[in-house]
Amino acid sequence: MLPYKSISLTAHHHSDGLNPGQKMALSFIGFGFLLQLVYWLGFRSEGAGLWLWSSIGLVSAGSLWYTINQYKNTLPGIKNNHNWLSSLTSRGSLAWILAIFLTGFYILLYWYPEFLGLAKEGENNRGLVALFDPLSFGLKGKPASQWFVYGALYTLIILLLGIKFIYKYRHNKYQVYRTISIMFFQTAIAFILPEIMQSLNKPYYDFKNIWPLNYYFFFDWNIDAMMAAGTFGYFMLFWGILSFLVITPVLTYFYGKRWYCSWVCGCGGLAETAGDPFRHLSDKSLKAWKIERWVIHSVLVFVVLMTVSVLVTRFFGIRNIFLIDSGTLSHVYGFLIGAAFSGVVGVGFYPLLGSRVWCRFGCPMAAYLGILQRFSFKLPWKKEAVRMSKFRITTNGSQCISCGNCSTYCEMGIDVKAYAQRQEDIVRASCVGCGICSAVCPRGVLRLENL
Ligand code: SF4
Ligand code: SF4
Repeated sequence: MLPYKSISLTAHHHSDGLNPGQKMALSFIGFGFLLQLVYWLGFRSEGAGLWLWSSIGLVSAGSLWYTINQYKNTLPGIKNNHNWLSSLTSRGSLAWILAIFLTGFYILLYWYPEFLGLAKEGENNRGLVALFDPLSFGLKGKPASQWFVYGALYTLIILLLGIKFIYKYRHNKYQVYRTISIMFFQTAIAFILPEIMQSLNKPYYDFKNIWPLNYYFFFDWNIDAMMAAGTFGYFMLFWGILSFLVITPVLTYFYGKRWYCSWVCGCGGLAETAGDPFRHLSDKSLKAWKIERWVIHSVLVFVVLMTVSVLVTRFFGIRNIFLIDSGTLSHVYGFLIGAAFSGVVGVGFYPLLGSRVWCRFGCPMAAYLGILQRFSFKLPWKKEAVRMSKFRITTNGSQCISCGNCSTYCEMGIDVKAYAQRQEDIVRASCVGCGICSAVCPRGVLRLENL
């Protein structure tokens, strides 16, 4: 029988799982976001600098304080504690509230930016967009747009929750290095560099956003903008084609899709940092795996047909080689996949469906990388099939104690335990090589290798 004291302590601890320091830290974060909300809903436009920096300061201080409080006296690694007891991480009411807030924010961002305060022609920004004007003027000498606000918040979240992630998995070098990499690519290459380029009157370009994820790369307006930018513009065009045709297959051959999905990509970066508390929510059923393969490959086919159609229109003047006008096709893709799937569902549903919904079910770049990672072919003069990637997860199944940590925390819904028990290498198109299955295995069964 447990002594009375332990029972009461356990009961108290389960009430919300937060210590007083964490509660204080959360109030800092809440207050920081409240400042943004007041500025936004008040549709203000003056004193933005003070409000912005106070808000960023409070949110950052609160987040770091929370991180230290949560992990300082604990062993590094995954924390199972309260996952299925906390409302936020077990699809409870808090999870639903967060999901509705996030999807609502994305809907405003894509289709109603005026509600965020984006100025009409000849007017000044107000509300949330005006709040970010000082930062935008500092970087490119122009007022903010709703996309600038999005980029700034996205980067801030990856940085703060990236630090939390690194502290949580501080025992594991792979996790530490890849998170630093994600933070670097998001901050320097996706956020700051394109802004500086715009201040030099160059077109907006995120060098790591590769077609087909960057579905508008071959759109007329984008090609025109690059060609109008002279030598540098031609370099962008060349880089875009090179990264899809050469860099991606070569790096995937050596390292698997992880070089992109877990070390470089911004969508993956947000999923790994902000989405970390929700990774166990991914559906592990065979049905989900089947749906995943159908949907993600359909999106890949869609983006290829849409791009071919746009290019045929540009170079041959034929508007409807697939019986639908290329303009309509690109609009439908932009609306359905570029906005609704990748943003509204992809991020908005983190608290309900897990952190990699977009990467698993929708991203055409993940589909392309997955084909390279998974497939092999036969050459007549070789006995063994030639694999298009050296990456695999090897399993030392005799050590497995069937705890199931690996399957639970696989954000791509792979039943890792089943492979471990069969002593089978894991070569799956969807595996993003995040390495969490290996990091949470108490027996050292799983190794990410390039053999
Ligand atoms: S199998 Fe392991 S490395 Fe691959 S996605 Fe799942 S948790 Fe990450
Ligand atoms: S985490 Fe390790 S020990 Fe547990 S089921 Fe997976 S492979 Fe086996």
